[in-house]
Amino acid sequence: EPAVIPVSTHGITRDRISSGSRRTCETLQQHGHKAYVVGGAVRDLLIGAEPKDFDIATDATPEEVRRYFRRARIIGRRFQIVHVMMGQETLEVTTFRGTLDEKTKTDEHGRVLHDNVFGSHAEDAARRDFTANALYYDPATEAVIDYHHGVGDLKQKTLRMIGEPRTRYREDPVRMLRAVRLAAKLGLFIDPEAKKPIREMASLLENVPAARLFDEMLKLLTSGHSVKCITQLRDEGLHHGLLPLLDVILEQPMGEKFVMLSLANTDDRVRQGKGISPGFLFATLLWHEVLVHWEKLKAKGEAKIPALYQAMDTVIDVQGEKLAITRRIAGDIKDIWALQPRFEQRAGKRPYGLLEQPRFRAGYDFLLLRAESGEIDIEVADWWTRFQNVDGEERAEMLLPEQ
Ligand code: ATP
Ligand code: MG
Repeated sequence: EPAVIPVSTHGITRDRISSGSRRTCETLQQHGHKAYVVGGAVRDLLIGAEPKDFDIATDATPEEVRRYFRRARIIGRRFQIVHVMMGQETLEVTTFRGTLDEKTKTDEHGRVLHDNVFGSHAEDAARRDFTANALYYDPATEAVIDYHHGVGDLKQKTLRMIGEPRTRYREDPVRMLRAVRLAAKLGLFIDPEAKKPIREMASLLENVPAARLFDEMLKLLTSGHSVKCITQLRDEGLHHGLLPLLDVILEQPMGEKFVMLSLANTDDRVRQGKGISPGFLFATLLWHEVLVHWEKLKAKGEAKIPALYQAMDTVIDVQGEKLAITRRIAGDIKDIWALQPRFEQRAGKRPYGLLEQPRFRAGYDFLLLRAESGEIDIEVADWWTRFQNVDGEERAEMLLPEQ
């Protein structure tokens, strides 16, 4: 039997959850179903953090859920979920999942491939990854339903796996990355039982589809705690050929300072609630690879700018596939790189032209990181900072003589 923790104990009143999630649960309950806010949102509220989004778990089938709402659609095939639109909000409504059994399809390493059996509330709780992620909030009663001692674990700042950690990592190796990311983001300790097997099981990540790994890495890099996450991934041995992005980050001694600066910069932006563009992020992660290729081509006698374009293409071709970089993002990345040599030209009309470039801002931010990491002379970056900020007359005086 689960613990039912009343609002007088946990203090989360129903006004703390979004109106869309409240109304979605209400509607489902009016139709005689169970419906709860579940997962990250409940966890975040309990530790005093702002939830990112609200997920709903219910015993209604996807078809039923869709019928109860005016704006709702079923997405996914293998495991259907329903997107319910409420005003500006989109709620993800998931039907309770059932227990895995011998009929569940897995790959030869035990990774679960299909996941389409519905189950009871208790079964759903047991299928979630960590005890802190298996908490259900009932807006009607304001109670938290806790099958796995998640509230207690959260109080002790512990991220504890539900069930046997090795089994759970085998079912889904991405849980190793989730452990590291959630611990870093939420300031939790990974329970030793869950932490111990990670090192030896790390290679299971090789069998995870690239797109899924990429999604998880992107979450990690944009969590606002990427530096901490990356450091911890390295400490847990979760790199070296396993995570394409991480390889790029950690296997370039020359570029490490630059990449770490860039990630720290990204973390700051995320924590200040500013947007971050994947293009900029990847441009920084891959820049030192470009530099290596560029130098090689120049050493072979290739002209400077054609050599840069060739180096850019090579890096995007090689990494783009592994990292599942979309064509649009690849375009953004190349724009930022291609602007870099143009910052060296500080005579005549050229600096004015560069200022007018739509991607000037991103290119300039990138230049600042290069200067800060010691790759280029800080004087160039300072020149551009000043050039943007002074008036026309002073600008003209700043221009270097034509050579
Ligand atoms: P975040 O704050 O990053 O969104 P989250 O815990 O909400 O963290 P989601 O990916 O949104 O992460 O997942 C929602 C919930 O679904 C989790 O809280 C957990 O209960 C369950 N879940 C997600 N991924 C897994 C997984 N790989 N294995 C088991 N349960 C999972
Ligand atoms: Mg979530």
